[in-house]
Amino acid sequence: MLCVGGITMETSLKDRDKVGVQDTVLLENYTDENVFVDNLRKRFKEDLIYVSNYCNFNYTDENVFVDNLRKRFKEDLIYTYIGPVLISVNPYRELNIYTKEHVKEYANKHFFETSPHIYAVTDTAYRSLKEEYLDQCILISGESGAGKTEASKKILQYIAEVTEHKGKVEKVKEKLLQSNPVLEAFGNAKTNRNDNSSRFGKYMDIEFNFEGNPIGGDILNYLLEKSRVISQESGERNFHIFYQLLAGETESELNELMLKRDTSSYYYLNHDSKSSIDPTSDQKGWNEVKKALDVIDFTSEEQKNIFKIIASILHMGNIGFVEEEGLSQINNLDPVEKVCKLLECDIEQLKHALTNRTIEARQDVCVTPLNREMAVYARDALSKAIYDRLFTWLVLRLNSSLKSEDTRKNNVMGILDIYGFEVFGKNTFEQLCINFCNEKLQQLFIELTLKSEQEEYLKEGIEWQHIEYFDNKVICDLIEERHKGIIALMDEECLRPGDPNDSTLLAKMNRNLAHHKHYLSHPMADIQTQKIMGRNEFRLLHYAGPVTYNINTFIEKNNDLLFRDLRETMSTSHNSIVKELFPPQEQESKKRPDTAITQFKNSLNNLMSILMNKHPSYVRCIKPNDTKSPAVFDEELVRHQVKYLGLMENLRVRRAGFAYRRVYEQFLHRYKCLSRETWPNYPGSAKDGVQALVACLGYERDDYRMGRTKIFIRFPKTLFDTEDAFQE
Ligand code: ATP
Ligand code: MG
Repeated sequence: MLCVGGITMETSLKDRDKVGVQDTVLLENYTDENVFVDNLRKRFKEDLIYVSNYCNFNYTDENVFVDNLRKRFKEDLIYTYIGPVLISVNPYRELNIYTKEHVKEYANKHFFETSPHIYAVTDTAYRSLKEEYLDQCILISGESGAGKTEASKKILQYIAEVTEHKGKVEKVKEKLLQSNPVLEAFGNAKTNRNDNSSRFGKYMDIEFNFEGNPIGGDILNYLLEKSRVISQESGERNFHIFYQLLAGETESELNELMLKRDTSSYYYLNHDSKSSIDPTSDQKGWNEVKKALDVIDFTSEEQKNIFKIIASILHMGNIGFVEEEGLSQINNLDPVEKVCKLLECDIEQLKHALTNRTIEARQDVCVTPLNREMAVYARDALSKAIYDRLFTWLVLRLNSSLKSEDTRKNNVMGILDIYGFEVFGKNTFEQLCINFCNEKLQQLFIELTLKSEQEEYLKEGIEWQHIEYFDNKVICDLIEERHKGIIALMDEECLRPGDPNDSTLLAKMNRNLAHHKHYLSHPMADIQTQKIMGRNEFRLLHYAGPVTYNINTFIEKNNDLLFRDLRETMSTSHNSIVKELFPPQEQESKKRPDTAITQFKNSLNNLMSILMNKHPSYVRCIKPNDTKSPAVFDEELVRHQVKYLGLMENLRVRRAGFAYRRVYEQFLHRYKCLSRETWPNYPGSAKDGVQALVACLGYERDDYRMGRTKIFIRFPKTLFDTEDAFQE
């Protein structure tokens, strides 16, 4: 270790698990003439030093920012702070930093006294909940494969470790932990980006009693990618549970479900060699799911019914149709019989529902036979609907098991693990939903940190150089504004009589949004852009960068139609879960259900209001490479993520700001014993008392500012020194 002006700098990396405030370099304290500083800069360039908190660092340059992450990554230091925001770079290998000893190291320590870690963030949030009774939320973001779900598990693991280990609390914790394998089996899949990719968004509240022990939980799920049930890209798989069932279930149970172990028997499962994974991992997964279902008190009857539904979907995919003179006919009755047996519904009714459509217009009821294409569509829509509803049912069922018996209004800690911004070769309806979600989260981030930070300085009368940041509200409005936004136009087109289709929708959007700064249509684009944009595409300039969307399937996906005949058939099922998935009220209701995107918008707005009232902590996950390699740090890829996670913007605001603030009365009350002038009581106002106190403590002019009601302290170290003096 090398000591620079009272700040210890890390030069040796051996001691890295213990580095904390120490490994920061306050380069700004030194002038360029200073040879020593030149030396420091050189050493930074030569990879010998790096910083654990960007706020203690003089550079706000993106290259240096990324370079610092690279150096730390090479040393297995995957965590770095921007003030209190945690950046986590996926190490793609197991690191020995999550043991019980590590938990102990972080428990009850001050945030900046320890090296950056997901445990430190969790501990800080947990203590704020326990000591100040503030509801918390930890927002985890990042692209697919960046480590969000792993981070959320570490948070849960930490909480489980530091709270009571007996009785009801232990049972609740076990259930909370076991909810993960269930949700992952049904909601995760192998994609080309991540072998265990979450295909749904998840928000989980953990409820604590006044002693700070978990007593319950509640999960909200968002937009499951149900199209995966019926088809997958090359190299990808369906949801894990299908393979787990086939690999892990006993021979006799499989017989009962009329299933063969071999995945190639099922159309809905991809069988190219690229998409296969180690079969033992499916068996292992199966055992975990079964165990988890037991822990969460799913009865054996419920479990049987769940797997009957999963099996019936596999059989459903094998139903084929032939067409004769424009009319479809089922060409193989065997899978239909199996489906009906498993779902306990009437075979004639199902056969009819798969090949006909009943439309009720005013008083008339009209039955139209379906052609082959429409019959395939109807079959797939049914499979998707059953799976999607089963998933939501599972979440509700988990919630009823996790529900606390305490009716008081207790404090909660929420954990949000939701899809990051997506830009693919071809972007469609799903990407629009996901990217809209990210715009909303960015809005919340701006609201909760940037804006409120600046507003507080203004309110407290502290001189503050206004930081320019891009407020993405304009893009949120472009998407969701009433009567005018993209969602409104989409819904309007979906409900329009006549023949609404994707191209009429695009024409409408192009007409209405042509002059919006963040919307670009093909006709309005310059020649260069037109070359890379198709006529059936539109482009949105998101806060993270431009994304070109292909309009194909927008109307169909937004309508998300499940023909009435199929719904009715399902509602007559004798399988107790299927009956719940298709309640009779739904069949009776004349009201058209909200469109897919409107439902999503409503659930997002609900999420925003849940998060708005909580104290937020942020974890920003970064993927170091596209090859899942522990050794490669792809600077371009990381730079892109740094950009769209808004990290540089965040750093700029944080650096210009103050690390700590405390109301004068509180500050004086705690530290008044450190000065004769303020001990035992200061005769004047609290503000004057604090002024006298900091003068006595030797605070430098630049270390702090006096606001109207609070003292603002720039660096953590200043407060540490004061706290140390107090402890002595
Ligand atoms: P998606 O959006 O696709 O769900 P994600 O951000 O949730 O992606 P994870 O599933 O958490 O990504 O991580 C992907 C993989 O990276 C994990 O399966 C694991 O192998 C590895 N990984 C992530 N974080 C860590 C970590 N802290 N330590 C070790 N390995 C990790
Ligand atoms: Mg995930």
